[in-house]
Amino acid sequence: MSKNGYLQIHDPLKPKGYAVGIDLGTTNSLVASVIQGKPRCLSVDDGDAMLLPSVVHYAKEGGVVVGARARKLAAEHPTDTIISVKRFMGRSPEDPETRKLGHYQFADGPGRVVRFQVAGGQPVTPIEVSGEILRALKRRAESHFAGKVEQAVITVPAYFDDAQRQATKDAGRLAGLEVLRLLNEPTAAALAYGLDKGSQGTFAVYDLGGGTFDISILKLVEGIFEVKSTGGDSALGGDDFDRAIAQRVLQAMGESSPSPSLVAELLAAARKTKEALTDAPEVELGVGSHRQVIRREDFDAWIQPLIQKTGIVCRRALKDAGVTAAELDGVILVGGATRVPAVRRYVAELFGREPLGDIDPDQVVALGAAVQADLLTNTDRQDEVLLLDVIPLSLGLETMGGIVEKLIPRNSTIPTAAAQVFTTFKDGQTGLDVHVLQGEREAVEDCRSLARFRLSGIPPMAAGIARVEVRFQVDADGILSVTAQEQSTGISQSITVKPSHGLTDEEVERMLLDSIDYAEQDIQIRQVREQRVEAERVLMDAAKQLGEHGGLLQDGERAAIEAAIERVRELAKGEDSHAIKEAIHALDEVSRSFVERVMNQAISQVVAGHSVEEY
Ligand code: ADP
Ligand code: MG
Repeated sequence: MSKNGYLQIHDPLKPKGYAVGIDLGTTNSLVASVIQGKPRCLSVDDGDAMLLPSVVHYAKEGGVVVGARARKLAAEHPTDTIISVKRFMGRSPEDPETRKLGHYQFADGPGRVVRFQVAGGQPVTPIEVSGEILRALKRRAESHFAGKVEQAVITVPAYFDDAQRQATKDAGRLAGLEVLRLLNEPTAAALAYGLDKGSQGTFAVYDLGGGTFDISILKLVEGIFEVKSTGGDSALGGDDFDRAIAQRVLQAMGESSPSPSLVAELLAAARKTKEALTDAPEVELGVGSHRQVIRREDFDAWIQPLIQKTGIVCRRALKDAGVTAAELDGVILVGGATRVPAVRRYVAELFGREPLGDIDPDQVVALGAAVQADLLTNTDRQDEVLLLDVIPLSLGLETMGGIVEKLIPRNSTIPTAAAQVFTTFKDGQTGLDVHVLQGEREAVEDCRSLARFRLSGIPPMAAGIARVEVRFQVDADGILSVTAQEQSTGISQSITVKPSHGLTDEEVERMLLDSIDYAEQDIQIRQVREQRVEAERVLMDAAKQLGEHGGLLQDGERAAIEAAIERVRELAKGEDSHAIKEAIHALDEVSRSFVERVMNQAISQVVAGHSVEEY
């Protein structure tokens, strides 16, 4: 524990072997390290391959195979070979994302985690599978250095939530690595380009990998990267380019019901062809006895609709971040699929500038992670090691219904900042209470209250219209300042607190343990509270409609609606979130035709020359 109350991750004076940066990717993973002052990717086999395919095979005879050899085994042993495990990290088995994914056999077991039933014994969790990938990288790095590697910076997508981040960290620990920090992938790319050396700027990071597309807009302020917005498509990547080629080849072969093994062989050939087309104008693809020349021009045309999908996502991310393409200071290319010349051209056109692409887009994230690992461990860079202090407990805000919304997750390295936009709940509401809390639990009373203040002077508007941005900023000394600003008038109010004040190590520890012990219960509490807030909103709305448009009610309707209202009100006092939800739904149903009449009347009055504002 350092004197300002923050947990110190390690003692910088006691070196612990080599530190590495790891890009734990969906398709491929890499390990890099700063060697003689320069970040370099390390080879993952005895040749010069830097990419370790993120594939783990569990053999019938026991034993685990990771990487290129595992990928070769995938077609023959689909359920014993886990590909794209990253997509399962931190997700529960009921998660719709999880259900969508694949052909794996899920095993039952305690807790809300996915378990793959694989050959050779016990079911494995995504954390364990990722742990195998990390262990393989650690081993490679150790044989490279002929020494111990015990510390790593691991990258994660900027949109990863707390559970996904925690799962990644646990995978690291399982592999025998001390995770110095989880670093956002786009931030890692920016570090690799040394963009943090500039004073400020706004950057777009365009990441097209094997199966996912991510766009992030980053803002650099005084050496801290802040993620302004993220967007993406979790089902779009270089693999889709392979499928586009494979489809055309199947057509040319006149093959309408290919066998699974032909498809697998064809996809592998298509991938090779695609990669070769990056450097050659035409490439011959061979599968079985079929030979076909694919021209880059044709390939470009086939993938054009796929590339254009990324454009829609990028425009939205720019809009969310409140910047135009022209205001950006740079665009960075990340991911193997951005090698495709047509993708580069499209990005240049979309952002109106040449993207930065001279660092290998496969390696750029791992290189940035290595730079960060070096910053955090290199004793020659003592000043920068200050960055090691972390926030021991999450910082958040009370929202409707007594739930805590976390703005800065625990273990965030300081300095850091985060912002979120809130709105008013009631018509004409002119004040907003800001209640700052610390802790991991979901309910306000289970967290520690740090400060409260009220932003007043919000101009009266209909509920949900006002926009109040609440910004948390923690400086290098661990001082938290919170600012709330109403966006249309600019009125603002702020407060400064020192979040760690008065907390002992034991208290921090206890709060963390509690959050684990009460996780299930907390989820339920949160659901009930959310439903109660929804119930309150619906009741307010119903009362308003009945009051203003009672004349439109038909025989017996009022009694039915009022009974449904009463039921919502009753159940909202209880603890059953499903029941509340159903009661709200029932109220919606009985009032549907009444609400339609209200709308129709409003529309006909507008048509009759009234203004919309009257309603
Ligand atoms: P992820 O971030 O999902 O782990 P990568 O960044 O490693 O993925 O990107 C993998 C994708 O990049 C694959 O679809 C691969 O075929 C593609 N790729 C790799 N090299 C090239 C190349 N030279 N030309 C075109 N595509 C490439
Ligand atoms: Mg990647």
